[in-house]
Amino acid sequence: MIKKIINNLIKIKFIKKIIEIKRPNFIILYYHRVVKENDLSKETGPNIHLCVKENEFKLQMKFISENFNLISLEELYKCNFRCRKFSVAVTFDDGYLDNYEIAYPILKEYKVPATIFLVSKNFVSQPWAWWIELWNYLKKIQKINFEGKEYACLNNIQKEKAFFILKDKIKKLNSDKQLTFIKQLTNDEIRENHQSLFLKNNHIEEMKKDDLINFGCHTHDHLCFSNFSKEIIENEIEKSKKILSEKLNIETFHFAYPYGSSNDINYFEHNILKKLNFKSAVTTSEINNKDNSNFYLSRVSIGPFVNLEDFRRKLTGFDINIKKLLNFFQRNDNKKSKF
Ligand SMILES: [Zn+2]
Repeated sequence: MIKKIINNLIKIKFIKKIIEIKRPNFIILYYHRVVKENDLSKETGPNIHLCVKENEFKLQMKFISENFNLISLEELYKCNFRCRKFSVAVTFDDGYLDNYEIAYPILKEYKVPATIFLVSKNFVSQPWAWWIELWNYLKKIQKINFEGKEYACLNNIQKEKAFFILKDKIKKLNSDKQLTFIKQLTNDEIRENHQSLFLKNNHIEEMKKDDLINFGCHTHDHLCFSNFSKEIIENEIEKSKKILSEKLNIETFHFAYPYGSSNDINYFEHNILKKLNFKSAVTTSEINNKDNSNFYLSRVSIGPFVNLEDFRRKLTGFDINIKKLLNFFQRNDNKKSKF
């Protein structure tokens, strides 16, 4: 009996060791929006996945500040992505206004460093979020015709289905074509005004004085890279870095791929980023099939339905290890099916 217990303890220790070895010693979290509880309850559609409630965010920041070493992307780069203690970095994509109004006071309260990845186009022209207008349109209609097929939009499930079919098409276009697409779809020349949803120069001015906040580059037009040529992508990134530097006086050294899942950046050459003096690039995948290069850093997404227990599990790496295991078996299955 005692021997059995000792054997089991050795086995548990061995498994724990393997997990420890496999686990990177840092984790990068990513958010889009932090919203008031009332605003979240008004949001019924697929864009809810971009939001985290203010009180949940507060609990999450309190938790990481009490339990982990907090680190910025710049510090991660300086320690060559090998931290002595397990560390947590916080990032935000797209530059929503609530990053300043709601998240920033909480970040300050718990002294959490964060990087906000900006889309430079929002600082030289009127910001417009097609995904918000698309959902607002779908909410009003009962059916939609797209590529010769009619889709019923009578309830939320049908509307969400239509949203994702259309989203898949729209995200592959550049912003001019996205505009034309939505104009034709809605049969309306006038677009919604989303200026109030995004950060403006004065918010950036204030936050950049604070060492806690860093800004990164998220391209100019938020293009889905796998659908564009290398030349267009290079121009996108260069233009964005230049505008952020000239208009906002921000030098950016860290980059976030738009729609940054591994599938969307499949063929991307990170040499473009190296050439433009970037030090790191983050994806939206929790596991990257590429190498562990600092130009394909994985991130853990925090959405609206992550309670503190889920959050703790994500930080321990338990979820990632399960996903890695599933990914390993899937890849092996794919290899088999090729032969
Ligand atoms: Zn984005």
